[in-house]
Amino acid sequence: MQSSQTKKLAEQLVARDRQHIWHPYSSATQHPPLYPIARAEGVRLYLKDGRVLIDGMSSWWSVIHGYNHAELNEAITQQLDKMAHVMFGGLTHEPAVQLAETLVRLTPEGLNRVFFSDSGSVAVEVAIKMVLQYWQSRGQSGKHKLLSLRRGYHGDTFAAMSVCDPDTGMHHLFHEILVQQIFSDSPGCRFDQPWDDAYIQDFETQITSHSEQLAAVILEPIVQGTGGMNFYSPEFLRRVRALCSKHNVLLIADEIATGFGRTGKLFACEHAGISPDILCLGKSLTAGYMTLAATLCTDEIAVGISEGEASVFMHGPTFMANPLACSVALKSCEILEREPWQKWVARLEQVMSKELSPARELPQVADVRVLGGIGVIELKEPITLANEQDKFVQAGIWVRPFGKLVYIMPPFVISELDLTKLCRALVEVVKTIHP
Ligand SMILES: *Cc1c(COP(=O)(O)O)cnc(C)c1O
Repeated sequence: MQSSQTKKLAEQLVARDRQHIWHPYSSATQHPPLYPIARAEGVRLYLKDGRVLIDGMSSWWSVIHGYNHAELNEAITQQLDKMAHVMFGGLTHEPAVQLAETLVRLTPEGLNRVFFSDSGSVAVEVAIKMVLQYWQSRGQSGKHKLLSLRRGYHGDTFAAMSVCDPDTGMHHLFHEILVQQIFSDSPGCRFDQPWDDAYIQDFETQITSHSEQLAAVILEPIVQGTGGMNFYSPEFLRRVRALCSKHNVLLIADEIATGFGRTGKLFACEHAGISPDILCLGKSLTAGYMTLAATLCTDEIAVGISEGEASVFMHGPTFMANPLACSVALKSCEILEREPWQKWVARLEQVMSKELSPARELPQVADVRVLGGIGVIELKEPITLANEQDKFVQAGIWVRPFGKLVYIMPPFVISELDLTKLCRALVEVVKTIHP
């Protein structure tokens, strides 16, 4: 299958890439493995050297319906014939309006106003700017700090970084520049563990003692993703909501990773039956087709901002509400509303629970946990990705571990057979990692 010709072409591409390109969290001088890819279809990635991999990552949570999806392709090409892009200042269009209506309808109650942007980090920046402008408008500009959870992840831009975990985030690199925020302990109560009031104690202490300064709490509901794949109790989220209301602090829910079904509910806030004041969406919003994000807020915040000194919300990205991105996002929502995605995610949870559990017995494994469409094997020691990445590829699966975490979140449409293959290959590779 791997002819020497295709292998050579793939190697040449890597060499050219290394002359000029940055990859995520990459070095210009050290070269971990890099795999040229030719195309992707369904749950399969076709490498340029001829190898075919089952995708365990959904391209970082986003490709929920699989790659090269006929209907999603069609949505983009139809829009392409009309208009690829147009500025959003002073103009509006059908895809943006329909998508906003759909998001307001699908998301937790009370989130009536939608701000579109290009990426998750910017959606978080927008959320932070919204709460700051809101309190300024209300004459309470002393409320300008955020309370965030340890092990949280909210993106790589500066305001977003300031609310990421202060130890594993990039705070030590930028501590003189980053705004100092307030942190409370990562939720200790596992998703299905019995509740004890001790779990909310640190959070309650922080919000009570800083409420005068606090504009908002920001958190990832139920699943803390990149910062540790921590699945926590809905009761924690309910308590946070109640404490925010009690202390006059807004609540920002960052559902950029959890939104659109990944945790088994359409939005993770639904596990706790709560509505945040602001909601950030991204990643799977366009089913992994285009870059688009959205920040939704309540009428109270929207009107508050608009009645303030600035009288407008001070943000306006060039590619705001790009029509191609809005069209494909709308189609992805339509597919979710039409298809039994709850069953698909329940099957993911069931198969991953069964197939990953043998890893629990391995000496190098600290924990195995599954929630909805997310399966995690936590190792005792961090992985050196440069040494281990190729093992996964040789096993025919695309998995990209991070620190101690080997995790998968496959496209919802993966077949039971492919999912079983993916999980079994994953466990086999884990057996070979610092045994
Ligand atoms: C990925 C992610 C972000 C950042 O989104 P980008 O599109 O990478 O900027 C923010 N918050 C959470 C929870 C995420 O998972």
